[in-house]
Amino acid sequence: MKTNRSVIVQCRLSSTRLPGKGLMDLYGKPVLSYVLQAMHKVKADYYYLATDKDSYEELLPVCKENGFECFAGSLDDVLDRFVSLLNTIKTKTVIRATADNPFLFYEAAEESAALFEEKNSGKGHCDYLTYSGLPHGSGVEVFSADSLKKAATETTEPYDHEHVGPALYNHKDRYICEFVPAPRRYSYPELRTTIDTYSDYLRAVSMLAYLKSHNYEGPFTTEQILEASRANSVKYPVVLVPSVVKGHGTGHLRRCLSAAKQVGFFVYIPADKTLKETDSIVEEYLADGLCKNQLINTIPDESYLPAIITDTFELTENQLKELSKNRSLISIDEGSGYTDYCDYLLDIIPSYKINRRANLTDSGFITMPEHVRADALEGEKREIKKVLICLGGEDPSNLTMPAARAFVRKYPDAKITAIISHEDNPYVDYAGGHNIEFIKPLPGLREKLYEYDIVVTHYGLTAFEAVYAGCGVILLPTTKLHKQLAEKYNFAFVGEKSISDSSLQSALESENLYAKKFLGNEKKSLAEFLRHLSAGKRMCCPVCGKSPSQPDEVISRNETRTYRRCASCGMVYMAFTTIEDKKYQKSYFFEEYKKQYGKTYEEDFNSIKAQGLRRAAIIKLLSGLGAEKTLLDIGCAYGPFLAAASESNFNPFGTDISDDAVSYVQQKLKYPAVCSAFPEIDTAEEFGIAQFDVVTMWYVIEHFKDLGSVLRKVSSLVKKGGVFAFSTPSGEGISAVSDKDHFYEISPADHYTIWEPSKADSILKLFGFKVERIVSTGHHPERFPYIKKTGAEKGSLKWNLIDAMSHAKRLGDTVEIYCRKI
Ligand SMILES: [Zn+2]
Repeated sequence: MKTNRSVIVQCRLSSTRLPGKGLMDLYGKPVLSYVLQAMHKVKADYYYLATDKDSYEELLPVCKENGFECFAGSLDDVLDRFVSLLNTIKTKTVIRATADNPFLFYEAAEESAALFEEKNSGKGHCDYLTYSGLPHGSGVEVFSADSLKKAATETTEPYDHEHVGPALYNHKDRYICEFVPAPRRYSYPELRTTIDTYSDYLRAVSMLAYLKSHNYEGPFTTEQILEASRANSVKYPVVLVPSVVKGHGTGHLRRCLSAAKQVGFFVYIPADKTLKETDSIVEEYLADGLCKNQLINTIPDESYLPAIITDTFELTENQLKELSKNRSLISIDEGSGYTDYCDYLLDIIPSYKINRRANLTDSGFITMPEHVRADALEGEKREIKKVLICLGGEDPSNLTMPAARAFVRKYPDAKITAIISHEDNPYVDYAGGHNIEFIKPLPGLREKLYEYDIVVTHYGLTAFEAVYAGCGVILLPTTKLHKQLAEKYNFAFVGEKSISDSSLQSALESENLYAKKFLGNEKKSLAEFLRHLSAGKRMCCPVCGKSPSQPDEVISRNETRTYRRCASCGMVYMAFTTIEDKKYQKSYFFEEYKKQYGKTYEEDFNSIKAQGLRRAAIIKLLSGLGAEKTLLDIGCAYGPFLAAASESNFNPFGTDISDDAVSYVQQKLKYPAVCSAFPEIDTAEEFGIAQFDVVTMWYVIEHFKDLGSVLRKVSSLVKKGGVFAFSTPSGEGISAVSDKDHFYEISPADHYTIWEPSKADSILKLFGFKVERIVSTGHHPERFPYIKKTGAEKGSLKWNLIDAMSHAKRLGDTVEIYCRKI
């Protein structure tokens, strides 16, 4: 049936930002192919690609494949190109799309065309129509062929000729042009699906990886596209950076390719790689299901911020320059001195060399071989028939040959296999007459280890894999450090550089020859864990609010978080977290509080109020005599402090994020209060008061992610000479001092800053406050190592002494800070 419509897709290969993007490969098909497929779903009589003469030849085959004609016209005068094409066909309505969006909403295109036709039915008239609010780059224009032809004769504006639509919609005096808000189901103006830059291209690759993995075949429906755009793998892309440097072995590359294959990460392989085996190993993984789109040789710019996960053995200064740009940097088994740059450190192979704490150390991420020796668990001595010597590509200490000879002497009938990477290896000459076989690195070595009775290797991944495979393992330590590691992790080893018969013999007799028990058996997926980490959030100092040029000093790392100290203001802050944001809901006080303290907040009202009376007395002392002072309590909850302040002759006002708490304060306590998320509050409007004599925050300040703007707001709310007082956990209390890492590990996930009383004055000064008094609270003698060790009872002399010291040295686990606006 005739539709009187033509679909025209516009394409050229000479894009300045991303040349040839229409033909870039996306999972085996050019980008353009996806566009044409989608637009072919729109009903029309003709389907044309409008291009320029230079691009014609290359684009023709893609058109043919997708049922499109190819028309070549002017390169720069696109308007002329369209008019020339329209002169060759008889059509009424033109539906125009550009060729850079493989995820076009074809349903929206069809609907907008139908709407255009509807507007032109009967007496109505419309020259041009487009939906607004579609994803960025998803726009499809519908216009009348005759109107465009006419408009082209009327304009000489260069801009009108470089484009198509403007010839109509920039001349609204002559043409009726409608920008119709897209129906809700297509309205995603914040979404970007077009390919204009290299970063866009990578985003498209990850979208497609998602769609393919869900067996969605193009052309993709709006729902499928939206689903993909919301996937974590698209929202939190990852670039893995393995070492491809000669001398580091092939384990890093294999580990990264394997994770990439499993969950669709990108792998960065620079052009200047020096690891000889790189290409052959990559081929191996490509044959096994890795997509070549996942391999990249450029790190995307800052318009696209994938998490960077390095597995490079040692980060270099150059790598840091390239990689640590305002995005998460996660490092596996990192051995350099630059670890302060890393947001997260994951240690998989236990190691001594690292004189620092990792966020997580877990050898469970070592991929265990599927093939395991049948006699792995029997523990009895086996006959030694096959020995594998695997000392890595370069074998820097030249131990392969001495090891092979020692085994030949010990087991003249055994078959000795040595892995060497040099093709022109001089060792080969020595092989004649011996039962030694020299082979090149084996693809998939992990699954072949079980064939060997003994595996001789260095401390590293292969050693652990061989243990899992149930082989006897002997390490040849090359350094003192390696010897220490071999000892620490219970490996049999030959300690000397020369391999004497007696040293080999004692290694063979070692009870650790068949090490088995030192590794857990829980299988963990490295790829899945890295996917989880990639959604982690990195944050800069909440006071200063900007990323420093040099990384701030790391204060503590644990499995879910990293804490740093701001070099500029001294605040300790949460710099990286894998825990999702907490939403403060009504249930907070009822359930959370009960969980933490064993009673509800309301039940606790009176004891909190008693604390409040003590605090109010201090504030009264600082704020001096005079008329009834105004006091604003931020985070007032159910109002125990408001009640205390009122009893102490203050005129209290409250604000809280919980509407439940605020109505309690308003209705039961009868104090003025508003529900608001501080700092978004206009007190002049709400209470008729622009500035207060006193502003307080009890255990609230640590919850703000944007502390800088909070303190600025507080400063603006306190009268000159007035008082700002708050309480918070202390970063210098006994818990923090005696076991810092434990303190940060158990610090609640929504405490974004940790206040150290000694630094409070210099931080508050930035906001116009001077600290007047610091009160150390939360004294817990039982948390002092001395009491833990001696088991002294509460009330004993020892206990009382420690309690006195805790007060004297301000070692309480919480602190109250009272300061004055100056
Ligand atoms: Zn700072």
